[in-house]
Amino acid sequence: MKTDYLVVGQGICGTFLSWYLEQGKQDFLVIDNALPSTPSKVASGVINPITGRILATTWLAETLLPFTWNAYEQLGITIGADIIKEYEIISFPSTQQMKEAHEKRIGEYNSYIQPALNNYPSFNYLYNSYSISPVWLVDLHPILNNWRNFLQSANKLTETFFDVNELKIEPDCIQYKDITAKKIIFCNGTEAFSYSFWKNLPYADNKGEALIADVPELSRDHIYKIGSLVMVPWYNNQWWIGSSYEREFESAAPTDAFRKYAENQVAGCLRVPFKITGHLAGIRPANMERRPFVGLHPHYPSVGILNGMGTKGCSLAPYFANQFVKYLVKAEPIDPLADVGRFSKVLKRET
Ligand SMILES: Cc1cc2nc3c(=O)[nH]c(=O)nc-3n(C[C@H](O)[C@H](O)[C@H](O)COP(=O)(O)OP(=O)(O)OC[C@H]3O[C@@H](n4cnc5c(N)ncnc54)[C@H](O)[C@@H]3O)c2cc1C
Repeated sequence: MKTDYLVVGQGICGTFLSWYLEQGKQDFLVIDNALPSTPSKVASGVINPITGRILATTWLAETLLPFTWNAYEQLGITIGADIIKEYEIISFPSTQQMKEAHEKRIGEYNSYIQPALNNYPSFNYLYNSYSISPVWLVDLHPILNNWRNFLQSANKLTETFFDVNELKIEPDCIQYKDITAKKIIFCNGTEAFSYSFWKNLPYADNKGEALIADVPELSRDHIYKIGSLVMVPWYNNQWWIGSSYEREFESAAPTDAFRKYAENQVAGCLRVPFKITGHLAGIRPANMERRPFVGLHPHYPSVGILNGMGTKGCSLAPYFANQFVKYLVKAEPIDPLADVGRFSKVLKRET
């Protein structure tokens, strides 16, 4: 079988890359093994313009936010689902330091933070409450499932494990079992970093856990930030509560330590009844520079990557998938801060 692009992985990166290839009328095939606990499946889907302890504006926020909204709207039309919604985060800082970080941002140019206007009797909070907006919430499950159905019905998806030992790389094509492709593009998250030709990238796998809870009396009109945890409306009228950011971990499985920590936090903060109904964990394909890996391998031009999205896959994946496809089809440049070619030196070594 011959194709132009073989895409490995159908998380949020592989979904947007293959969708843009489809939009550009390109010939492609996707291989995905449908792992159950990928970061794209356990993520809450929040696109937040500010980030971290100091609530800094996220990289490229002013470009990314409008682009991302539009990309999800367009993808939603293709897959017949309403997949993006605007929200406001109501943030309750849990320490004096966090409160000061919020106060400092109010009134800054293009600030995304304001004092919240209402009271929130469902919560105990020591300090003031703040409103963060605009924030987008994307519905990852219908995105992944509906796009997968589209690929399946178009005979563009092979649901199987991609075995890198079966890959033969030539300068102008690749051979994988009975498939010959002009290019292969790795969108398979953390697994790609175990391959000899990508393993020298400065990746930094990062585990995240979240609880799922039933909180029937809590208004679903907002996302809430309680200290370092975020409560996000989830499927089946449940709430997603997370997450952790762990660089060191023993396995990908949910831990008792996180469950106890998060349950205590929620119990201390919520004034309405709640019941924990689930516990999720996933490993984010993060990187030390906090900039993604996008483009063709500097020493193997038939091999590409769209990866390393870290905590921001929902906003970075559409933007950089679009850039990558424009690069492939029209030779338009990739942002040098994201172009994987910046690691040419370390990628020359495979040991
Ligand atoms: C708890 C948690 C919460 C998060 N919350 C948010 C959030 O609110 N907002 C946000 O923007 N980001 C969030 N993230 C980060 C986000 O989830 C990731 O950046 C993003 O999902 C990464 O997507 P990906 O497509 O690169 O990888 P993945 O989601 O890992 O997808 C890779 C795909 O490749 C497949 N695959 C892997 N290896 C193979 C193989 N050998 N053969 C075939 N298929 C293979 C897998 O089955 C999977 O479908 C969160 C992450 C976690 C863990």
